Amino acid sequence: MTTVGILGGGQLGRMLALAGYPLGLRFRFFDPSPDATAGQLAELHVGDYGDTAALDRFAEGLDTITYEWENVPADVVRYLSARVPVYPPVVALETAQDRLLEKQFFNANSIPTPRFIAVDDRAGLDAAVAELGLPSVLKTRREGYDGKGQVVLREPRDLDAAWQALGERPLILESFVPFDREVAVIAARGRDGQVAVYPPVEIVQREGMLRSARVPRVPHVGGEAQEIEQLAMAGWQLMDLLNALDYVGVLAIELFVVGNQILGNEMAPRVHNSGHWTIEGAQTSQFEQHLRAILGLPLGSTEPRADVAMLNLIGDLPDTAEVLAVPDAHLHLYGKVPRPGRKLGHITVLADDAATLEQRVTRLEGLLP
Ligand code: AMP
Repeated sequence: MTTVGILGGGQLGRMLALAGYPLGLRFRFFDPSPDATAGQLAELHVGDYGDTAALDRFAEGLDTITYEWENVPADVVRYLSARVPVYPPVVALETAQDRLLEKQFFNANSIPTPRFIAVDDRAGLDAAVAELGLPSVLKTRREGYDGKGQVVLREPRDLDAAWQALGERPLILESFVPFDREVAVIAARGRDGQVAVYPPVEIVQREGMLRSARVPRVPHVGGEAQEIEQLAMAGWQLMDLLNALDYVGVLAIELFVVGNQILGNEMAPRVHNSGHWTIEGAQTSQFEQHLRAILGLPLGSTEPRADVAMLNLIGDLPDTAEVLAVPDAHLHLYGKVPRPGRKLGHITVLADDAATLEQRVTRLEGLLP
């Protein structure tokens, strides 16, 4: 029996396991927390990422290793790669972990980004603001997620406070993009180089956290013909990106649409929140697709089955029965203790036409606490 090891035991890992059981796969997780939610359904090794003896025990007998958490130290992936095949490749992880390397990599692969400048000290911040102007966004180069580790600078007097909050670490200043919408594209690349791209989804973020994703069956995000073409182009560029990394697995990229421009914001070398809709909404879920890719199996179709929307459940949960009373609504709870700002689950809802989908989304939104 094939056993897949997963670094990180959060909901993404949990959903990977749920997608892999029908394929007869087994799973083993590694996470520093004994409460990691994936431990509710598979073997969980609790350990520190610096503990090589614990990593050795984890790797024992595994066929393949992957990761569901983006801040897994690259050295850990390199250490394990010497023992068991690890996908996606460590170079993708290292690139995605550093916002500066990530944006340089996008630009080198024909994906334009907001303008950016590395900031290493207080004088460097002044110089970068003089260059990019205000408003602009100051971010830590590493370990920012869900909107943490970033501050929007609107006026000159914001600089001191931002420096106090974020200074002492390598930073990046980006020009502020007054985007019309945010879009995410998910693609997978197999061990043989085969690529499959999901239709772009429109995502809504609040306080730096993803709230909802929507995929119309005809991918007309925004509805403008020119935009469709550009998003298709972004899909193609994504293929170049995957090939450049010799990538294996699922990768997500978040983009800003502003006027007739599409700018790369960030990428995640893993399954992604913007792809949860694929569990019921696509021919092949992103989780199964990732497992197919890393195990050298053929990739599946990325076609949507209907008009689909996904709503995140953050901080508090709606009533299960009320959600399930909505036609074609599918509830996913992650088995986590509610806490403000914590992702606890999501709902995917399908419909045969856009108008019905809107009605169902409105009804579901009314049920959220
Ligand atoms: P990030 O962690 O970089 O994905 O940032 C979280 C969210 O902050 C994004 O999804 C955007 O909604 C917003 N954001 C990040 N960078 C910028 C930018 N340069 N201009 C405008 N909004 C941004």
